[in-house]
Amino acid sequence: LPDPRRMLWGRADVERTLPKREDHSHKGSHGKGLIIGGSHLMPGSVAMTARAALRSGAGLIAVSTDSEAIPAISPYVQEATFVEGENGGRVPDLGGYDGIAVGMGLGRNSMQETVVERLVREKETPLLVDADGLYLLKDFLGELKNREVPTVLTPHPGEFAHLTGLSIQEILRAPFSYSKEFAEKHGVYLVLKGPSTIITGPDGEQRVDVSGNAGLAKGGSGDVLSGILLSMMMQTEHVMDALSNGCFLHGSTADLLVQDGHSKVDLLASDVIEGLSRTFRTFS
Ligand code: AMP
Ligand code: MG
Repeated sequence: LPDPRRMLWGRADVERTLPKREDHSHKGSHGKGLIIGGSHLMPGSVAMTARAALRSGAGLIAVSTDSEAIPAISPYVQEATFVEGENGGRVPDLGGYDGIAVGMGLGRNSMQETVVERLVREKETPLLVDADGLYLLKDFLGELKNREVPTVLTPHPGEFAHLTGLSIQEILRAPFSYSKEFAEKHGVYLVLKGPSTIITGPDGEQRVDVSGNAGLAKGGSGDVLSGILLSMMMQTEHVMDALSNGCFLHGSTADLLVQDGHSKVDLLASDVIEGLSRTFRTFS
């Protein structure tokens, strides 16, 4: 059995691997990301993902969403641009991005399934799939190993149960071995979220992030994590480092906020976005 203590990703590891902001950098140096999701009933999800990505250093963020959701999103994340979305059967132009995240608040109908299928078959852009995107991914799991660039899946145990056909109880009994089996079989990076988060690479390498607290047990936390991870993926060559650092930044910010200012009861996912500055400032 693996020894989780040896896989722990700690502050010193983050210090060593977190991308530095070079003095002469420009917005293109920090990645151009596309976030596909949101709907008129769930506009907050992609709004938080986009804002979290920008707060984590991403250079440019475009959002593809239901046009009815745009008025709710743009005041919250004024730095984002919008592209024609899956609304009305259109799929966004996928060229020119350094990373794509799909699924947050996307909905689960057949049109959105087409979007997910096209993304999976697109082989040039690193892809992160979360939430409804994971739900819709199930029929295309076999395609994942044909992708030539990293694919990252970020399920919580319920979503992982849907993807694997296992029960949540089975997953929680052996999360390391089920993660490894799945990541190796499909050639993906898997971020299995929970009070402890297990990060597994397609080669079976595993890391554990134990940061964070029950203040994160609230809607929106996963959407924020996806934005941080997208940003880290675009700025870090080593995908395992990007994902481990992203999980650490998310959880550690929640920890800082409940030590000082917030409580685990009132903490909101959006507070974590605004609190990221406190964590980033602790890294030179
Ligand atoms: P989601 O279920 O997609 O909203 O994602 C929840 C996020 O919050 C993940 O990053 C989890 O690791 C984190 N999280 C949820 N509950 C806890 C908890 N009790 N302790 C630490 N982290 C948590
Ligand atoms: Mg979620």
